[in-house]
Amino acid sequence: MEYIVCKEVKMKLKADYHIHSTYSKHNHGKSSIEEIVERAYEIGLEEIAITDHGPAHYLFGIKRSLIGEAKNIVVEMRKKYPNLKILYGVEANLLDYNGTTDIESEILKHCDIILCGFHLAAAYTTAGDYWNFIVKNRLAKNNEKLYKEMVEKNTQAVVNAMNRYNINILTHPGDKIPLNIDKIAQTAEKTNTLLEINNSHGHLNKDEIKIAAKYNVQFVINSDSHIKDNVGSCDNALKAAMEAGIDLKRIINLKS
Ligand SMILES: [Zn+2]
Ligand SMILES: [Zn+2]
Repeated sequence: MEYIVCKEVKMKLKADYHIHSTYSKHNHGKSSIEEIVERAYEIGLEEIAITDHGPAHYLFGIKRSLIGEAKNIVVEMRKKYPNLKILYGVEANLLDYNGTTDIESEILKHCDIILCGFHLAAAYTTAGDYWNFIVKNRLAKNNEKLYKEMVEKNTQAVVNAMNRYNINILTHPGDKIPLNIDKIAQTAEKTNTLLEINNSHGHLNKDEIKIAAKYNVQFVINSDSHIKDNVGSCDNALKAAMEAGIDLKRIINLKS
């Protein structure tokens, strides 16, 4: 069965690179890696990535000690489903304004793909980072001057991370904290980072896609699914891309 993502333009989704399994702890991910793989195979995807939250996400992050175990399951699944390309990865967390993340060498050795994004429940490096990321960004919602200041500060943090690490996909840019998407896209062009149009979080949104599209960047649409039935669900993300009017060939995981 071919999974047709959009009948009007006859584009099909060939890959979903952002999927959480039960290794995203505290019941955050509801389906096992095997269930996800079965579902992806069933709907005709060619490629998927299992990308649980990085260990510094204190609520939902994968336990460091279980990364090897999860990878081994992926290796087993590759044998069982040779026609499906299965990548193992992580959705890392931005931890401070210097751009530090939880992308560590212990994790890197298991990963084929690195996603990174900003999350609220991350173990930030210092109390000052918590103050800025959480408290000041909240205060900035009602203070225009502070808002502008925080947009630039947040953006610099993400830019620093993109320059420091080899991030394949920047997840849901603009979600949870405001960012200057123009500067993010400018950096993504240099660092060759894919910008995600996330189906679950509404970012990049239509306007942000338009801004990013001015640069020589590529996009990826991902489900960010936490249960097997949502694997490959990208309707909202595709709608945003179409409304933004970008050439859909710039979305690397669509095929005609
Ligand atoms: Zn995320
Ligand atoms: Zn996610």
